[in-house]
Amino acid sequence: TPIDKSAPIFVAGHRGLVGSAVVRRLQSLGYTNLLLRTHSELDLTIQSAVDDFFASHKPSYVILAAAKVGGIHANNTYPADFITINLQIQTNVITSAFKHNTTKLLFLGSSCIYPKFAPQPIPENALLTGPLEPTNEWYAIAKISGIKMCQAFRLQHSFDAISAMPTNLYGPNDNFHPENSHVLPALLRRFHEAKVNNVAEVVVWGSGKPLREFLHVDDLADAVVFLMENYSGMEHVNVGSGKEVSIRELAELVKDVVEYKGEIVWDSSKPDGTPRKLMDNSKLAEIGWEAKISLRDGLRDTYKWYLENVVNPQ
Ligand code: GDP
Repeated sequence: TPIDKSAPIFVAGHRGLVGSAVVRRLQSLGYTNLLLRTHSELDLTIQSAVDDFFASHKPSYVILAAAKVGGIHANNTYPADFITINLQIQTNVITSAFKHNTTKLLFLGSSCIYPKFAPQPIPENALLTGPLEPTNEWYAIAKISGIKMCQAFRLQHSFDAISAMPTNLYGPNDNFHPENSHVLPALLRRFHEAKVNNVAEVVVWGSGKPLREFLHVDDLADAVVFLMENYSGMEHVNVGSGKEVSIRELAELVKDVVEYKGEIVWDSSKPDGTPRKLMDNSKLAEIGWEAKISLRDGLRDTYKWYLENVVNPQ
């Protein structure tokens, strides 16, 4: 069902990588009534504050993109924060949305909900079939609980809550920290800095052999709006590009986009991580959506954003 362009839509987490892309997408489609609150305006971990917000503004649609996220290091250092804050945010938002008659809610998770040794490509029904990757299980358990809450509210109350699980995302507003970020922003930054400083070699971690799937966050935002309009099922839906690249291919592509002329050197003392991580996207393809942004175009766009917002902010 198409969404009324003037309906109040609450995008929780609108300053993050995902939430900001959802806002750009909704605005470009002509949605005029977006409800947006910064962390300091509305603390989503405080149940009474969330409930007051829903009581006053009665959002018809909710996109739940607010979460405490971070890399392996942050997950290992703050496990209590990761499980507690994520459970609080999603429980408060889902329960208040139901209570105040939200028409539909979409909950965003991540591919880390799947077992460490899930079959590749990973189908939706691999959920809860084996042990999780221990380094991020706190975050993963919270996200699995969010999927299950959406299902429980659908079963008990016919509340139209759905869940989407994106693969590795990248794009504007990503974290470009040199050590703590994910591989794609880390490499964009490292190749850029090597270019401007005339460094002869760029070091890339591992063997270059691991395979990863990347999705531009604007593609995810497009899929989110598509699912809000076209999907009302119990099961969560994977959202990926369906395209795998090796870390070696990724490094060559980043080198090319940045126009770095030096050499790539591999640091085999750094871990490769899991050999392959690919989502099975056939469910979403059957519903009728596929990714449109190629990795090369997406990298160009993200490099431009990095230059304009991180290197030379206005
Ligand atoms: P993962 O998908 O959970 O393994 O997360 P990452 O994005 O951190 O790493 C993906 C792959 O890229 C791993 O094989 C890393 O060893 C490799 N890699 C190569 N260079 C880098 C780098 O500078 N930063 C990160 N984070 N990963 C890198």
